[in-house]
Amino acid sequence: MNKSKTSNSNGNADRRRIVVLTAPSGSGKTSIARRVMAQMPDLRFSVSVTTRPIRHYERDGVDYHFVSPETFNDYIESGELLEYQEVYPGRLYGTLQREVDRTAAEGPVLLDIDVKGALNVREAFGTDCFVIFIRPPSLEELEKRLTLRGSEDPSSLADRIDKATYELEHQDRFDAVVVNEDLDSAVTDTLALIHSFLDADPDSNPAIESRQRKNGD
Ligand code: 5GP
Repeated sequence: MNKSKTSNSNGNADRRRIVVLTAPSGSGKTSIARRVMAQMPDLRFSVSVTTRPIRHYERDGVDYHFVSPETFNDYIESGELLEYQEVYPGRLYGTLQREVDRTAAEGPVLLDIDVKGALNVREAFGTDCFVIFIRPPSLEELEKRLTLRGSEDPSSLADRIDKATYELEHQDRFDAVVVNEDLDSAVTDTLALIHSFLDADPDSNPAIESRQRKNGD
């Protein structure tokens, strides 16, 4: 894995630089995203819209734009969402086109979205975008973590494991995979990958070149 530590947030000014973190639920993606944001002040977080209720530690407009199902539906109908998914039954999450346009005009952007959404963003942005798939060491380990977290009832736990099984089957479609066995190492690996994407000329980024070969982009 590339361990480059240099950052060049002013380079490659002519292209948008969009970094996407995606993962099965329980893989530690949000912890990794928070630590990455703390260590890369130039990276801007793209705030998604969601219909799920706000949690007590969250701030509207910072963690998400919390909206009603009606407002979300208006966004869908007016074509304002770059992508959206019903990530959990009755809970919609989406990326506003204007949020990405605004943040990407200022510098590199980080998106923390689910696996199907990440595939759609990759499709939309091509080589302007770099998608890192965070995964647990195994499905058994994921089940153990979700059980320990105690946030799921048995049926929701089974749903998440089914969904994770599907998502893990698609990991080869992303630009890089980070195994989150140990949080510190996973953060280090993720930071190195992001720096190497941001510093690279798109024509000489090995990850992107291999993706182009794979997909015929
Ligand atoms: P949570 O409710 O725990 O904040 O997030 C649930 C899942 O929704 C996470 O996997 C998160 O990455 C994903 N998510 C958050 N925002 C978006 C978005 O805009 N689009 C998609 N497709 N998924 C999102």
